[in-house]
Amino acid sequence: MQQWDVIVVGAGAAGLMCAIEAGNRGRKVLLLDNGKRPGRKILMSGGGRCNFTNIYSSPENFLSQNKHFCKSALSRYTQWDFIALVQKHGIAYHEKTLGQLFCDDSAKDIVEMLLSEAKAANVQLALQQQITAVSFADGNYTVTTPELSRQCQSLVVASGGLSLPNLGATAFGFQLAEQFGLKVLPLRAALVPLTWQPSDKAVFEEISGVSLPVTAEANGTLFPEDMLFTHRGLSGPAILQISSYWQPGDNVIVNMAPDTNVAEFLASQQHAHPEQEVKTALAKLLPKRLVEKLLALSVFTNQPLKALNPRTMQQLADNLHAYVFKPNGTEGYRTAEVTIGGVDTDYLSSKTMEAKQQPGLYFIGEVVDVTGWLGGYNFQWAWASGWCAGQSL
Ligand SMILES: Cc1cc2nc3c(=O)[nH]c(=O)nc-3n(C[C@H](O)[C@H](O)[C@H](O)COP(=O)(O)OP(=O)(O)OC[C@H]3O[C@@H](n4cnc5c(N)ncnc54)[C@H](O)[C@@H]3O)c2cc1C
Repeated sequence: MQQWDVIVVGAGAAGLMCAIEAGNRGRKVLLLDNGKRPGRKILMSGGGRCNFTNIYSSPENFLSQNKHFCKSALSRYTQWDFIALVQKHGIAYHEKTLGQLFCDDSAKDIVEMLLSEAKAANVQLALQQQITAVSFADGNYTVTTPELSRQCQSLVVASGGLSLPNLGATAFGFQLAEQFGLKVLPLRAALVPLTWQPSDKAVFEEISGVSLPVTAEANGTLFPEDMLFTHRGLSGPAILQISSYWQPGDNVIVNMAPDTNVAEFLASQQHAHPEQEVKTALAKLLPKRLVEKLLALSVFTNQPLKALNPRTMQQLADNLHAYVFKPNGTEGYRTAEVTIGGVDTDYLSSKTMEAKQQPGLYFIGEVVDVTGWLGGYNFQWAWASGWCAGQSL
């Protein structure tokens, strides 16, 4: 039986950070993963450039049943701490948009940085490990794989969520939480494209590839970003963001011209070009292929602008400022960036991430019911929660 101070399950963002911190504090740490290489999601994140944090990260950018839970960790290990680490390793980065920081070259730089820190902290890495059982007796955890059993005083679960099952995602962390009496809140795919109802698909799939700046709203939350029409439904950052707030059956209300008062625009066009057709005028505001679809859907009638009266102008404006889509569902875990829900934070210490009723058992990263917006927030939660657990192990 191998003896360790700490076993961390999951060599992703949170697990690596936690193992580094515990190792630096002199703990004998084993980092276990079921995959062939560590940090697989980091490698494919941000289109291969890893949006590793967000300079505006704050608790408001996170969803959780207890919105206060993330505050402590996010304030103890901030985006500036992670940026300092990136700078220490001489990794070039840039702000793309809205405070999102990406590597100039490759997400590999972040994985290599974490692996070199882990090596310096004497963290042992064991890959391609299939855990078959975990038990607890006499203050120690036993983690069993087909080859051997390992014992540790502290067990950290950093096995992530359910998205991208072909990249090693498993329900291990949720099952282990339940095994030890912690509640797991309902799980669902988030930061995920929404899919068409059959009737919308018939109309909109032909304009797949069309993108425009919008605001997208669901359940009272609103995101101003780009929206993309796809063969399967709606995507783009505005839709990925709103998917975290959308529940089956809900509408998504899209303002297709968020920066223009459409009624005033039509009135001014009418004044300047009374003979111009409505669709020609609208094509100055929206992609032409979208305008044609809106015409086909009778969102407006094509006629010379001079035929519009103030009431019809206002109706058309209202339609464009609050176009209602009723998605059929989401693309699910196959393409989702994150899992909403997870280990109920009521069962964890917000300072250390340790289970309140189960000494020595910790949950960090995405397996916990804390989910960030699109834009580097999910990694910031992984770093912060991993760092906090690492200080307490
Ligand atoms: C395509 C994509 C792009 C993304 N881009 C970004 C981005 O740019 N910025 C951002 O902030 N967030 C991004 N995210 C989200 C981000 O990757 C996750 O929120 C983050 O990786 C969570 O970290 P984690 O350590 O909790 O889990 P993970 O990084 O998922 O790591 C969990 C690890 O545990 C391992 N594991 C799972 N089950 C077991 C088991 N039974 N036994 C052993 N090991 C196991 C997995 O193989 C994995 O290595 C992206 C996600 C996806 C899918």
